[in-house]
Amino acid sequence: MGPGHLAIAFAAKPVAPKAPLWVLLVASETLDLLSFLFLAIGLEKPATSTVDISQGVRFIIPGSIPWSHGLFMSLVWSALAVLLAWLFLRDNRTAIVVGLVVFSHWPLDLIVHLPDLPLFFAGSPKVGLGLWGSGPGLIASSVMEFVMLGVGIAIYIRWWKKNRPSRIASRSLR
Ligand SMILES: [Zn+2]
Repeated sequence: MGPGHLAIAFAAKPVAPKAPLWVLLVASETLDLLSFLFLAIGLEKPATSTVDISQGVRFIIPGSIPWSHGLFMSLVWSALAVLLAWLFLRDNRTAIVVGLVVFSHWPLDLIVHLPDLPLFFAGSPKVGLGLWGSGPGLIASSVMEFVMLGVGIAIYIRWWKKNRPSRIASRSLR
């Protein structure tokens, strides 16, 4: 999934206002950012696949992404995010929300991915509900992602408008 993940970050800002928006945005894409890193260093292998509008995504050779997108490691990265957020922001609620935003990536990917999300590591069962595996599914998921992003940004803007005056006030008090 692509921009749909960012929707979670925007929508999470009112729940955890102490978390900077960029932290929430990075949190929502943490698993993909880790995947770029792990692919670059050879720890994970990219899938060889075809994408077209009639068939959706088809794997020629499935990839291997247990370190970034395995369910177990996703929980580990989420727990680490809670710890890091707590160390920097010293707020329980904020830290937990940041961790949940990191984890939100996994169930969203579960909906769209072909079964390439390992439960644990290489050799463990792989899951994925495969919305991307058909042409109409691919179109539906793209529409869904942009709707999600729109809703997420709308939630964020509504919160931002309400909180802007108090932000200016607290800034001038410093
Ligand atoms: Zn992903």
